[in-house]
Amino acid sequence: MITNRILLTTPCYPYPSLPANDSLTDATGQRFTHGDDIFSLVSHTHCYANHILAQNINMPATLLEYPRWNNFIEEVDKEYAMIGISAFPVHLDMVMKMCTYIREKSPETKILLGSYGAQAFAAQYDEETKKKYVDHVVLGEGVKFLRELLGEDTDRPIQQKVMPKCGGAPAFINKYPKGGLGFLVTGLGCPGGCDFCATTEMYKKKRIELLSPDDFVNHVELYRKHFKNLSSIFVIEEDHFRHPRWLTKTKERWEKNMDLVKNVDWTGFGSVDFIWHYAENYGWDAIPETGMGAVFIGVESKFAGEHGYRKVREADAR
Ligand code: SF4
Repeated sequence: MITNRILLTTPCYPYPSLPANDSLTDATGQRFTHGDDIFSLVSHTHCYANHILAQNINMPATLLEYPRWNNFIEEVDKEYAMIGISAFPVHLDMVMKMCTYIREKSPETKILLGSYGAQAFAAQYDEETKKKYVDHVVLGEGVKFLRELLGEDTDRPIQQKVMPKCGGAPAFINKYPKGGLGFLVTGLGCPGGCDFCATTEMYKKKRIELLSPDDFVNHVELYRKHFKNLSSIFVIEEDHFRHPRWLTKTKERWEKNMDLVKNVDWTGFGSVDFIWHYAENYGWDAIPETGMGAVFIGVESKFAGEHGYRKVREADAR
């Protein structure tokens, strides 16, 4: 049994597509720029959760992204003491097939299931069924959980050093864009607490900061050092504008590096009401001065106000 190395994997290929046959790994085509006609971006992203886990534990990891079934069983047959699977909810059929195989071939292996697939799994099945397939259903931030499980120090900062690049382009320019964009996660969770949002349940209405403003800019500089042509970073956070101090400090730090000011920008996230508040307090120019070049904006439907949601009541998205 392999006890000095962990196997981290996504569900096996082929992964199910989303409604309208959209690809799960095409975050812009299926979601962020969906419906923008010829300007919709076709893109690909990686399973960053596993990369972040692998970078932040002392134990070496073998990492598989959407492996073919044969590649997956080849690794499982080596009998790892621990296998972690990070999955989307639509993956659960495949996840259970994989768990069944692991239980059969390597019954001593402890199986961990994380990400929003774990949340759906936990909500769907009773305790007995859960135990049949999975030993640890990991909800919330996973690095701390895994470090604790491995008996490692949990106080070290979380690193995301030069993760695999994602790529995107309008389909009329390139249907298969190469990886040219960096990717970082500055924080998980959102204090907004909207009752329809999976994040609310996953992180219990709290924000968990993964990168401070200094760490964030250091990580961008590291990308730049290794990839001279990299000009954009995709930065995951539920709502950057809910954290104005984080943005202000990022702006101060960003403006000290003229290479970043001239050559790099990042895509952030915001809900329309908090973008509005930020602009009212700091001015619209303060947004690009943080280095942010594009924002994915959360806008509720025009009927949301009737149900008690207030985003569009406080700000006019137009
Ligand atoms: S503001 Fe957005 S991210 Fe935050 S809880 Fe509401 S829907 Fe979720």
